[in-house]
Amino acid sequence: PAEQLPYDPSKKTLVLLGTGWGSTTVLKNLDTDNFNVVVVSPRNYFLFTPLLPSCTVGTIENRSIMEPVRQLMRHKSREVTFYEAECTGVDPARKELTLVRRTDSDAQVAAGGRLGAAAAAAPEPPAEDVVKLGYDYLVVGVGGEVNSFNTPGVEEHACFLKEMPDARKIRRRLMDAIERASFDDISEEERDRLLHMVVVGGGPTGIEYAGELHDFLVEDLSQWYPALARRVRITLVEALPNVLPAFDKKLIDYTQSTFSENKISILTQTMVKEVRARELVVQGADGARRELPYGVVVWATGIKASPLVDRIRERFPLEQTNRRGLLVDEYLRVKGARDIWALGDCALSGYAPLAQVASQQAKWLSRALNAAAAAAAASDGDDGADLFSRIEQHARPFKYSSQGSLAYIGSDKAIADLPLFNRNISAGGIATFWFWKSAYLNELFSLRNTTLVASDWIKRFLFGRDISRE
Ligand code: NAD
Repeated sequence: PAEQLPYDPSKKTLVLLGTGWGSTTVLKNLDTDNFNVVVVSPRNYFLFTPLLPSCTVGTIENRSIMEPVRQLMRHKSREVTFYEAECTGVDPARKELTLVRRTDSDAQVAAGGRLGAAAAAAPEPPAEDVVKLGYDYLVVGVGGEVNSFNTPGVEEHACFLKEMPDARKIRRRLMDAIERASFDDISEEERDRLLHMVVVGGGPTGIEYAGELHDFLVEDLSQWYPALARRVRITLVEALPNVLPAFDKKLIDYTQSTFSENKISILTQTMVKEVRARELVVQGADGARRELPYGVVVWATGIKASPLVDRIRERFPLEQTNRRGLLVDEYLRVKGARDIWALGDCALSGYAPLAQVASQQAKWLSRALNAAAAAAAASDGDDGADLFSRIEQHARPFKYSSQGSLAYIGSDKAIADLPLFNRNISAGGIATFWFWKSAYLNELFSLRNTTLVASDWIKRFLFGRDISRE
């Protein structure tokens, strides 16, 4: 039947860039009867990022938090097209995108598909892998990329914690370091180096990873490698005077005291200046530099704009004056552009780069697009209005409403900052941990993922984590 065709010449083409929290939520809520919808992303799945730290140590299996984008497309009323490709350029005058077909995704992520310097050094893609795609409307939800602050050695030696290949790499490196430390012929100093696990960055990502690593150490490694596990040290390095600057003071203290009970050292007011193959160079508040030998280092110091965002900004130099991302108005329209919206971490809308913000923006945008498209169909386009201005007529400006923040800190404890009855409630502890678990189960995209994650938790409870290195 006609409505099953992916392309209907009577409808406008809406391209969604990305398969993260923003674009995937738009796809989920968009009425695909209104447009020819095309999704473009280098990743053919949605990743439930809040549980990514759990994958680094095998508390949860990787595929349990991945949702194939085609699974979501299957449930739409009209067929949606998906291209696994990276968008490398937008030509707003011709309404055309440049896409590069992906070949070996892992290698590209590792080579820094997301890291400015490494990406610039990457070879040009072969001509047959570069394709053009026209659009009428464009939604940019491409997220950000890891920020190394140009610290030397980060890209070569550290592991990031942003995408699934990062979590896989951390798990492999952890097991490698421990197996190497099991040899008798190495010096005690070398053994201590291999067993020193360092986390750079005391934001929620670094804290959650350190918590998971601690659990892995006391619940599993101590069973399999009792002598070595006693010597494993975990250190978190943070440039500011305390960790979790965005959280309530009580929760910061609670996290710091839990870490100290768990023997995780926190080095505050300490900045990593260089990452070498076996040691970090750190600088303390007094300005003195010293070396910190490590076995595995995880770099979690936040995000910055991706090269695509820079290229889009260059098209609108008068309006796009902020290097951190795409400036959008209260209707999420990219300032200076027509027919381009941006949301999530790549958009500068005055809100923090949070999954919650991206998904609320996406729900707002899909509702607005649905309403505007319905109004356009009703007027038969007689009034000459375009979708951009129709949204202004049919939707109220976007406003974020915070549902609070949650973070897991290890040993079955979590912290929560929740707005309740207009008052901020902060809580930490085991009850909060169960709240954290149920909130995440509830938030997972599909029944399939919820079932997989719940069964991973049960499996871990019954059999422990798997320590084989894949
Ligand atoms: P972040 O920006 O929150 O924290 C990074 C930390 O690294 C900062 O405190 C910074 O001072 C420190 N840092 C930077 N360079 C350093 C250096 N050279 N040496 C030592 N320390 C250095 O980063 P994140 O944790 O990746 O989070 C990114 C965003 O995602 C934030 O908005 C965060 O709130 C959000 N997030 C939220 C959750 C949650 O709510 N559970 C989980 C993960 C991420």
